[in-house]
Amino acid sequence: MNTQPSYHITAYYKFITISDIETAKNFFESTAKKNNILGLIILAPEGFNSTVAATTENDLKNYKSEILKYFNLQTLNFKDSKSDKAPFRRLAIKLRSEIVTLGTPELRPPDGKNYHLTPTEWNQVMKTETDDVVLIDTRNWYETKIGTFKNAINPMTDQFTEFPKFMESQNISKEKKVLIFCTGGIRCEKGILDLHKQGYNNVYQLDGGILNYLKEYPNDEFEGECFVFDHRVSVDQDLKPSTKYDLCPHCGQPAQTKIDCKRCDSVQMICENCAVIDWKKDTCSKNCAHHLELHPDRKGSKQPLGY
Ligand SMILES: [Zn+2]
Ligand SMILES: [Zn+2]
Repeated sequence: MNTQPSYHITAYYKFITISDIETAKNFFESTAKKNNILGLIILAPEGFNSTVAATTENDLKNYKSEILKYFNLQTLNFKDSKSDKAPFRRLAIKLRSEIVTLGTPELRPPDGKNYHLTPTEWNQVMKTETDDVVLIDTRNWYETKIGTFKNAINPMTDQFTEFPKFMESQNISKEKKVLIFCTGGIRCEKGILDLHKQGYNNVYQLDGGILNYLKEYPNDEFEGECFVFDHRVSVDQDLKPSTKYDLCPHCGQPAQTKIDCKRCDSVQMICENCAVIDWKKDTCSKNCAHHLELHPDRKGSKQPLGY
């Protein structure tokens, strides 16, 4: 019998005016609790943005339909995946000024889809117009590092607010076809508005982002794994939790280098950046790094006393 708990995860967002944010917060809180949902829900006057996990398919189904009902929506693009590893340890509902931070709460995507390419349309462009398009990853450098589309430009940003400046600095013809993508689509919703403001006339975004693309086209134009902001670290081509990466205990980025902690002897993965820094490269945590720096010759508490 399979007793392994499995988690049903969904990522979703919607730009929709929420005039009474406290009431919306109460709705999400009670609906999540009722359906044993954990995860992150971001609310702002411009809408909601969230990834959550349930322990049964039915709980997740109920949760989704209550959201549709509450906001009076016919459909919503829920990007689903499954995991045997718990993606979240608690429920967090955060009230912000934007549901995706670009620093421009006044930029609000219109309803409907004007510049969205479905995964099929996206693939068509990728495969037939390669020389005529500029493909840009709007995500941060540590996300891009573990997987991206073939031939995509990596802006090397630390956070999304840096993306508009990066695009201003590029010598891309304003008439050139520009394709942008992110994890689930929400960053591009705002990114595209900013690019229009900059005068780009021919910009398209991948509808539903990489998560939506992989659902339909695993092992195709996207290479590597897709970083996600929860305990799975990333998902593979089949949207399964990463078996390759862990989160670096020192800096929170994807980690692939296995080390034995010199202080406490536990085994841990750390990232390649921290793997070249003294005190970090041989330790499993910030705490062990700190103690090793203070007392390089002393072992930690997991060692027998008097060691
Ligand atoms: Zn690190
Ligand atoms: Zn340690």
